[in-house]
Amino acid sequence: MKSAADTVVTFHYALSDADGHPIESSQGREPLTVLLGRGGLVPGVEQALIGHEVGDKFEVVVTPEQGYGERREGWIERVPKKLFRDPDRLRPGMQTVLQERGGGARVVTVHKIGSSVIDVDLNHPMAGRTLHFALELTGVRAATPEELEHGHAHGPEGHHHH
Ligand code: ZN
Repeated sequence: MKSAADTVVTFHYALSDADGHPIESSQGREPLTVLLGRGGLVPGVEQALIGHEVGDKFEVVVTPEQGYGERREGWIERVPKKLFRDPDRLRPGMQTVLQERGGGARVVTVHKIGSSVIDVDLNHPMAGRTLHFALELTGVRAATPEELEHGHAHGPEGHHHH
């Protein structure tokens, strides 16, 4: 079976920058499981995962446009310290997760620390970077009706309940 939109794929990945320096990988961890075609991954990686069979290994170079977007200079927001989980631990340049009003969460980079506020850079840490992904497809199956309805995968076997 070939991977396509509305199939659930399981894959390992190794991410490096344009110069080949490793950034992160799924080595030694569970592979990722994703319902393709629902925007669960950056567009360049979703595209690259389509049309493969289990065991395929392939690589893709993802431009910012097909990845985490261009970096916006000066995209800084001032946030009260109390909205951070562990503000005393934070230092400029560190990444942290900020809970959003809508209930989501986003990764931000600490820019400047004041006495009661922290200025954070809202750019995704990978924004503006050309990324190199080495991918290995370890599973592909049809999505269950429930997964298609929810718009996301429910784990390698499709049995996850939430
Ligand atoms: Zn669900």
